[in-house]
Amino acid sequence: MGERGNVGGRRNDLEAGREELGGDRGAPAAEREELGGHLVAITAEHEQLGGGLLAITAEHEQRGGGLLVVTAERERRGGYLAEITAEHEQLGEYPVEVAAEHGQLGGDLEGIITEREDLGGYLAVIAAEHEDIGAEVDEIARNETTLPAMLDFLTHPHRAALRETPLSDAQRAIVEKNVASFASFDAADQAELAGLMQVFLAEKSFEGCGGLELTEEMKVTIAAEACILLLHRETAYYPDVESILVYPAAYRVRAKRHDGAVVVEGDEDRLGESWSRGTVVLAWDHVKADAGRTNNAHNLVLHEFAHQLDGEDGDMNGVPDLGRSSRYGSWGHVLAEEFEELTSSLYESHGKHSDIDAYGATNPSEFFAVVTEMFFGKPAAMKDRHPALYEQLAGFYKQDPAAKGATG
Ligand SMILES: [Zn+2]
Repeated sequence: MGERGNVGGRRNDLEAGREELGGDRGAPAAEREELGGHLVAITAEHEQLGGGLLAITAEHEQRGGGLLVVTAERERRGGYLAEITAEHEQLGEYPVEVAAEHGQLGGDLEGIITEREDLGGYLAVIAAEHEDIGAEVDEIARNETTLPAMLDFLTHPHRAALRETPLSDAQRAIVEKNVASFASFDAADQAELAGLMQVFLAEKSFEGCGGLELTEEMKVTIAAEACILLLHRETAYYPDVESILVYPAAYRVRAKRHDGAVVVEGDEDRLGESWSRGTVVLAWDHVKADAGRTNNAHNLVLHEFAHQLDGEDGDMNGVPDLGRSSRYGSWGHVLAEEFEELTSSLYESHGKHSDIDAYGATNPSEFFAVVTEMFFGKPAAMKDRHPALYEQLAGFYKQDPAAKGATG
């Protein structure tokens, strides 16, 4: 083929070149495509990165929020811990309170048990007295009116004359002025009271204490009040009482006292005392104030001398010498029931107490003293609200103060 072959060859070269070029021209396109792919990849990467950044931002925000939550939690925990601490402190006090409550309850229960035991003692004493005295007293009772009078005449020959001696004008004036209930007695009772007072004044020794200078007014007023309890009765004129100590006012003593489970020691103000042998102690200002009032269930002299009557049979236990044995049964039944009612009213119904002075719940002996004060000081109220109790006391004291209508 020669030149043409050459030309042809040359053309072929060109074509090849062109083809080459075409190939060259084909290479940038691939390149571009590759680049495009890269850009797409980069874009995607960027987008991914953008998303990643968003995710990071979101994460950060979340973390920020999370930290806030953690902080809030911390604060909450702080508050919680403070609460727990407060709770603990409170809890710490609570057992102390519970213990105190228990202690108090223990004391209360002990008081109730003691009271119950007292009541049991009361009933036991009544039963014993009832049995012991039994037939013996019935036998003595047959001579009830003659024997004591005969013995009294033999052992105290001056008493009969004293019993007939009236009060002096000065003494009578004192009684009329100081003893409010004196006016409620009829002439016969006033004369009998005068005779009892004469024996009392002749036989008892009075002593002023705490700087008090005794006067006739004091002696006569005390004698009159004390002898009201002896009217109409066979009496030995308070055989155990030798001296009466009179203080100007409430006097202070060093006392040791059981208050529930606790023993309280310290100074204590007292208005009066009745010792089982020999002595009665009185605060004059209270003697005078009580004696001067009617419709008054507080009377210091009646209270202390009721204790003396209670002790005449050997025990201050709320059961005085009732004479006939047949009286002990009803006395014990009625007084034990009233005593129980008073004590349970104090323990069970707060604020709604009995009209009998709460001091009577101390023990049967105080109960007898307190109801004696009420019997003479507020007889109508007692007869109305405690008829059985009034009847027992009227039988013992052989008086019916409610019938006078002067007090109550
Ligand atoms: Zn008393």
